[in-house]
Amino acid sequence: MGILGKVTSDLEGVRGPDVAMVVTVPRSWFGREISIALPRIMHCAVCQGGGCDQCLGAGAITLRDSAEQPLVLPVVLPPVREDGRSVCIRIPEAGGEAVQSALARGHLLVTVRCGDSPSPEVTLRGPELTPSQRDRAYLMKRSLIMTAVLTLLFLGMLRLSGWL
Ligand SMILES: [Zn+2]
Repeated sequence: MGILGKVTSDLEGVRGPDVAMVVTVPRSWFGREISIALPRIMHCAVCQGGGCDQCLGAGAITLRDSAEQPLVLPVVLPPVREDGRSVCIRIPEAGGEAVQSALARGHLLVTVRCGDSPSPEVTLRGPELTPSQRDRAYLMKRSLIMTAVLTLLFLGMLRLSGWL
């Protein structure tokens, strides 16, 4: 769909309807990258489900056809707030489609709460290994193999020289 392909600099421009969702993540996930699977039908960000002009009174915005795959968004969470309150992240162009398709999609407003267990829509993305970390892992493995080979060689020599 290419939703994340472009980000407009004008965050308040005319666009599709904004949508909102609330997710819960464990405290240790803050500051890390997570994936959020977007529900097909989301709350209208203006009225939070109560019904308004933006959502034509429905209180909800449909993001895609039922046949389409769920959209999974990578999101980097900010550090956890000291006071434990939830944080709100605004993701441009991940909301509802504008009636005129030339306009940008609306924003997605994600409220992230701190809780014991994550909500089903969110998963923690594994830490990406940097090239230097990958090199280190490779060197570690190679030195372990070298150690094993040298030990066997040493035992073999002891054997040959009659010590074993
Ligand atoms: Zn509404």
